[in-house]
Parts: sequence; C-alpha cells; structure tokens
Amino acid sequence: MCPPADVPPANGNGHEEMVLVDTHETARPAIPPANQTAPNGSSNGHSHPPTNKAKGPYSRASDFLSNTSNWKIIESTLREGEQFANAFFTLETKIKIAKMLDDFGVEYIELTSPAASPESRAHCEAICKLGLKKTKILTHIRCHMDDARLAVETGVDGVDVVIGTSSFLREHSHGKDMAWITKTAIEVIEFVKSKGIEIRFSSEDSFRSELPDLLSIYRTVDKIGVNRVGVADTVGCADPRQVYDLVRTLRGVVSCDIETHFHNDTGCAIANAYAALEAGATHIDTSVLGIGERNGITPLGGLIARMMVADPDYVKAKYNLPMLREIENLVAEAVEIQVPFNNYITGFCAFTHKAGIHAKAILANPSTYEILNPSDFGMTRYVSIGHRLTGWNAVKSRVEQLNLNLNDEQVKDATAKIKELADVRTQSMEDVDMILRVYHTGIHSGDLKVGQSAVLDRLLEKHIASRDSSPDRREKDVNGTPAKRQRVDEATTA
Ligand SMILES: [Zn+2]
Repeated sequence: MCPPADVPPANGNGHEEMVLVDTHETARPAIPPANQTAPNGSSNGHSHPPTNKAKGPYSRASDFLSNTSNWKIIESTLREGEQFANAFFTLETKIKIAKMLDDFGVEYIELTSPAASPESRAHCEAICKLGLKKTKILTHIRCHMDDARLAVETGVDGVDVVIGTSSFLREHSHGKDMAWITKTAIEVIEFVKSKGIEIRFSSEDSFRSELPDLLSIYRTVDKIGVNRVGVADTVGCADPRQVYDLVRTLRGVVSCDIETHFHNDTGCAIANAYAALEAGATHIDTSVLGIGERNGITPLGGLIARMMVADPDYVKAKYNLPMLREIENLVAEAVEIQVPFNNYITGFCAFTHKAGIHAKAILANPSTYEILNPSDFGMTRYVSIGHRLTGWNAVKSRVEQLNLNLNDEQVKDATAKIKELADVRTQSMEDVDMILRVYHTGIHSGDLKVGQSAVLDRLLEKHIASRDSSPDRREKDVNGTPAKRQRVDEATTA
C-alpha cells in the first residue's frame, strides 16, 4: 500500500495566497532564499547551487524541502520510450534524438540495457562515443551482476539499477525476497562504483511496496555510497499527496539524490513529478511526448511547462526551449504519431484564443489568459476570429493588420456579418479577410453604408462570382487549419 500520511505539511498551511503579476513584462516579487539542507542535516548531494530567489509569481513560498528551483532531467525517450507500442528506433534515429536532447540541455539521457539485445548493446556503445557536449549517458539494467558487467563495458557515465520490491513483483515476477534483493543490490552497487561511474538504485512499483522494506533497502544502499535512489510509480497508481509523503519520508532517511519516475495511467505524471520536487526529489524521469510503456510517463514538454510557472528564470537558463517543438516533431515522426492537439506548449491550440472576451484581453495584455509566454518557446499566439463567438476587438486587430481604414462603428458592423456567416459554418482566415476587404471597398466607394446587411451580401456574392471565374484562383481552404488563423504579431500585442 502507499505510505501513510503521517507527516505534517512542510510549509505551514500550504495555501499561501497567489499574487497576480504579469509574467511577461513585470519583475517578480522577491522570495526569501530557502535552506537546501535535508531534514537529517546532510546535504542532499545535488551538485548545482540552489537558486531559490528566482521564483515565479505563482509558486508557493519556498520551504526547506522544495527543489522546484534545483532539479535535473533524466530523459528516457531512448529507454522508456523504446517500450512505447509504436517505437522502433534505428541507430541513426537514436543518434539524432540523443544529439538534439544534448542541444536542448537535458542533464542525462537513459538508454535501453545492453543486455536487452546485441543491437541494443551496439547502440549503447555508439551513443557513448558521440561525445555529447553536456548530457551524461546512463543505461538502465536489472539488479544483476551479468547486466552490470555488460553495462560498465559500454562506456556509459552511469548505471540505473532497478528491481521490483512490491509483493506483486516479488511473488509473480522475479520471486526473490528482500534479503536476496538487498544482498544483490550491494554487490551490484559496489561493482559499478569500483568502475568509477555513477550508480542509481531504484525499486520498481514503489508505491505498492511495503514502506519499511523500501526505507530499509534505501538506507542500506545510501550508506554504501549510491549516487541516487529511485522511486518509481511503475503502474501509475500514485497521487501527488502520496508522492509528497513518500519522498518527504525518504528525504529524511537518505542523504543521496532522489530520482523519481511516474507513469501516467491516471493522469498524474506531471503533478506527481512536481510534488516529488516539492518534497525534496532531485531528478525527474521524462520522455519526449511522454511515450513509454502503456500510455507512458511524465512528458518532457509538460514538465517544462509546469516548471516554467514555478521558476521561469531557472528553466530558461538551463534549457534551449525553442528546440522543444523540433525534438517533439522528430520523435513523433519516428514513432508515427501526431503531436496531440492539446499538447503542452506545442499543441496546435496551446496558444490559440477564441472567445471574443478572451481575444480582447489577450490583445490588450497576453498575461490575462496566458500563463506561459509562447515567445519563450519560439511559438506564436493566435486569435481565432472566424467563428460565432468572435468579438469586434479581435476583428479590429485584423483590420489593422490588413491596413484597412475602418472606424469602430464599421468594424462592429463587419463583425456582425462575420458572426452571421459563422453561424452557418466556421469561416477560414481567407473568408474573414475577404469579408473585410469587400466591406472596406464598399464603404470607401460609397456602395455600402453601416447597417446595410443585404447590400453587403450582394457585394460579397459579386466578389465571389468574379473570383471564381478568375483563372488563377487559388484553392479555397475551408478547414480552418492553424496556418489560416490570424497571427497576432508581438507588435500588435505589446
Ligand atoms: Zn517506466
């Protein structure tokens, strides 16, 4: 079972009031620095210096446990991601992904065990020879001396060891008891350490393991100098409160780093990662687009989105954020899927605003309805205007972009026509532009006056008839793809 909630929240009532500040243009409020010392008085061994003063305006006041401004990514697209149903990575693709993740700035990539197959071993060796600039290379093995011997020969910077500790896995998977697990773990850890490379020990299915068993083995491996212990929600059963409680308890037991791995079966993978960092975890496992076994793990982009809200300066300093879309496109293509429409940051509607009241506010100040700034990721916001929910402020913005000369009364009149036509079917950007241009020509030729809806209908029909008879008429796009949406330039929205 999951551990009991026997420890009080570390940060008082845990419900500090939010302070609304413009994320994009305004300086952030100062928040006192937090003590990064673990509750047992020892350093948590995390190597980069704490940067707790640079918090986002929406994050809670820092507490002595929280690592939301001091964490690292273990990117497992090339291990966990290989377990995704559609995944079959050639060496060439793996090298492309590894190099791109290195350019993006992840601290570690994790590769499939060299014991999995001869090809896996060859791939592991080849990626170790790439000479990545920043990213360290790990491989993920069973807690077994044969696997450990193979792993250290590949040239990796570290080895991630895992073994099932829940009664489900002990009885139905490897069939070993905790005494055997502890003895083998010590043997493997001491062997890997003797080769001078990093070693992590993780339980599998941690949230369905007995807490005394877990704490006992973590304490033992910490004492013999493991670099990290790992907590894995292998079946995706944990919720953020359970994660907070377990990691917080563990933080008081070990002095080494704490890595966490969350599956997304019940939709908690990002929230669990965040709760783990709040409780003192130091490393989060991710994969690009969250691909992995079943429906996968914490997605790289989703974690970045979450952490940008907690501490944007820290995230921007560490990672090359505009590369995110490129990496996701590469992986999506490699595993033959589409980037989901509602994907964090890069989904096609992530920065698209539709409702009239939202559009008006966004045009005045993007922070009104955006917690993330698209330009931080090389993305652009869109205001969708060819629909029945549109508003005249958004239409006015488009009129200005088209350099048309219409006063507010005329823009409102043209907006009424757009809404009338959009009640029949959604209007593409091309449709909207046509209505505005015909309206503009009608007003300035004297053929049209405000309120003459029937006259405008006739002018539009005439325009469409002459356009359709034109030999160079372009294919009409009626599906409203993002390319046809209105781009709201930074100049318009500043
Ligand atoms: Zn996993």
